[in-house]
Amino acid sequence: MSQRTKGKCKYCGKEYTAGYMSRHLSSCKERQKRLDAMTGKRQCGYFLLHITAKYDRDYWLFVEMRDTATLKDLDDFLRDIWLECCGHLSAFDIGKDRYEVMPSDDFFWGAPAKNMNHSLKSVLEQGMTIGYEYDFGSTTELLITAVNHRTGCMQKDKITILSRNNPIEYVCSECGKKPARVICTECYWDGEGFLCEDCAKTHECGEEMQLDICNSPRMGVCAYDGSDLYPDQFVPDTEKQNA
Ligand SMILES: [Zn+2]
Ligand SMILES: [Zn+2]
Ligand SMILES: [Zn+2]
Ligand SMILES: [Zn+2]
Repeated sequence: MSQRTKGKCKYCGKEYTAGYMSRHLSSCKERQKRLDAMTGKRQCGYFLLHITAKYDRDYWLFVEMRDTATLKDLDDFLRDIWLECCGHLSAFDIGKDRYEVMPSDDFFWGAPAKNMNHSLKSVLEQGMTIGYEYDFGSTTELLITAVNHRTGCMQKDKITILSRNNPIEYVCSECGKKPARVICTECYWDGEGFLCEDCAKTHECGEEMQLDICNSPRMGVCAYDGSDLYPDQFVPDTEKQNA
């Protein structure tokens, strides 16, 4: 894809590519206003995380996460927004250490994997990039960079989405006209199989091979059918009613 995907800033609603968004978030005036307006005695550290698919950087997220939250919290979030299909295993790779959702004590060599009950601040530092894998069979690999760390008033949520790539629009690979709604997992491996509603009905591989188009690097993999909790299009506060 020649054109990098853009996404909207939660606070001002402006659209940027991931590279610009990374810089924008630290200089966004609307964001600064909101942070300045926060009250409350409890202070807390927050990491700004840039999360992207390792092999398709057009899928990306910027989230702010409490530094006392755990890797398990981050794992849960990633499953909810991008990954969960049938409860596969997952792991973070941080430096030489591996943190698994269900570490096995049955290992052949090296150090055993650790569990995910570690706080972000005990394993992360600003500037670090760590790896993440969901499903050790048909693996979806992510890269997570701690772009920034700040201390501020404690917020209600452990994780706040600051931006997310807008859904990528695919054109039906059969009629070449209408927007694709589903993907044929048989044909996807050849870079085809994007189907509009009409062509999906007559496509030769059958409807049981089809999965919904969704805004996730796991689209078309295993049984992944999109997120139940997060809409594909991220809605900034400026577009919400009663914001
Ligand atoms: Zn902004
Ligand atoms: Zn699965
Ligand atoms: Zn079509
Ligand atoms: Zn097909």
